[in-house]
Amino acid sequence: MGYLLYNGKLVTGEGIKEAAIFIDGEKISRIIPADKLEDGFPKNHTEYETIDLNGKLVFAGGIDAHVHFREPGLTHKADIGTESLAAVKGGITSFIDMPNTKPATVTASALAEKLALAEGRAFANYGFHIGATNDNFREIETILETGKDGITGKDFGGIKVFMGSSTGNMLVDDDETLRKIFGIKEKEILVHCEDEETVRENFRKAEEEFGDAIPFERHPAIRSRKACILSSIKALETAIELGTRLHLLHISTREEAEMVRAAKLSSVNITAETSANYLWFTDQEYHRLGAMMKCNPAIKTPEDRQALRQALRDGVIDTAGSDHAPHMKEEKDRKYPVCPSGVPSIQQSLQVLLTVADEEDIPLSRIASAFSEKAADIFGIKDRGYLKEGYYADLAIVDMDAVQTVTSEGLAYKCGWSPYENETLKGVVTDVFVNGQRVVKDSVQASMKPFGQRLVFEK
Ligand SMILES: [Zn+2]
Repeated sequence: MGYLLYNGKLVTGEGIKEAAIFIDGEKISRIIPADKLEDGFPKNHTEYETIDLNGKLVFAGGIDAHVHFREPGLTHKADIGTESLAAVKGGITSFIDMPNTKPATVTASALAEKLALAEGRAFANYGFHIGATNDNFREIETILETGKDGITGKDFGGIKVFMGSSTGNMLVDDDETLRKIFGIKEKEILVHCEDEETVRENFRKAEEEFGDAIPFERHPAIRSRKACILSSIKALETAIELGTRLHLLHISTREEAEMVRAAKLSSVNITAETSANYLWFTDQEYHRLGAMMKCNPAIKTPEDRQALRQALRDGVIDTAGSDHAPHMKEEKDRKYPVCPSGVPSIQQSLQVLLTVADEEDIPLSRIASAFSEKAADIFGIKDRGYLKEGYYADLAIVDMDAVQTVTSEGLAYKCGWSPYENETLKGVVTDVFVNGQRVVKDSVQASMKPFGQRLVFEK
């Protein structure tokens, strides 16, 4: 038996339309506009379980191309099972995980291992990025040319480059290597931009002044806007020169938004991401949240936040990845120099987008685009990311009239906390479908079975 969802408002990049959705098996089989239905209800469909959506919004389930689920090697913080469930509760039905795990995902065999780890355990559909280092270019080239250890270009999302911000051994600071990676045409190159030299110099100054008691308010001065801008200029210039398919990750400054706006005039292959964290918090909150909002790049000023919100509205920012990066509370309690960067956020990402859209009068079509459609386009994800007949029935249903104050009890994260606690957000995710299965019903987990499937990347 399938499902028939009616009285819903379908939100896509093209706008909002009232329609009924039929789900047969794993797929959306039919979408019928409400004006083609008598009394808004399709007749003679007793074989379907009918759900009256009462005017709620229907989004294609989110595709989050920027998560850190910490598996393998760091599973005391999080794992694929716990965090993919948090994702689904927040309306995100597909994720692509970053390579800075232990071991780092910088070889075909490490990628194969991750794919095997996720099988049968992910509540959302799963995929992985591969990481670039100063010395694995040959490995990546082999994967793309001939395949290796069962891994080809279709088996991973994109190639992640930490440009001047070392996480584990994944720092590409060799210019010749960087140009070789940017020369790859087959895959998307995802870049974390912060200039390492600038960061190191700023840190040295802060240490001189405070020793190990550096206040967390200092974070945006250490991981400074200059560090972001310098590195983003280099990435954008190189990408324009070489025609790279560049996805600039988590931009955090007004200047970067303006640079992306300009760069897009020179290259259609340049896209940008920001995360809920930069759209929501500002540096005015370091005194309150301190380590809890320490992430890289740092959260910047209210003016930066306003520029990023504007860039989301304009489509200069293409996607909203959560950059979900959990750490345990005990780890966050450490002093600044040894306190890890990263914030758990995936369950609140859609609600933040919806609240920001409401505050700034951003059309919901823009949110649908940034939440799922653009990521599907950029990574060539097969049959997902859109509300379309023949596509997988991955759906996030939202009551836009409801508001929710985030509490720690409501969080599904293994680490059990989030800087969004006590924030009141607009739009409550009531129902979620993953591959045609109703995994969340009336905001409660309705199935203990992980229905996530492996994503297929056609680009
Ligand atoms: Zn990240």
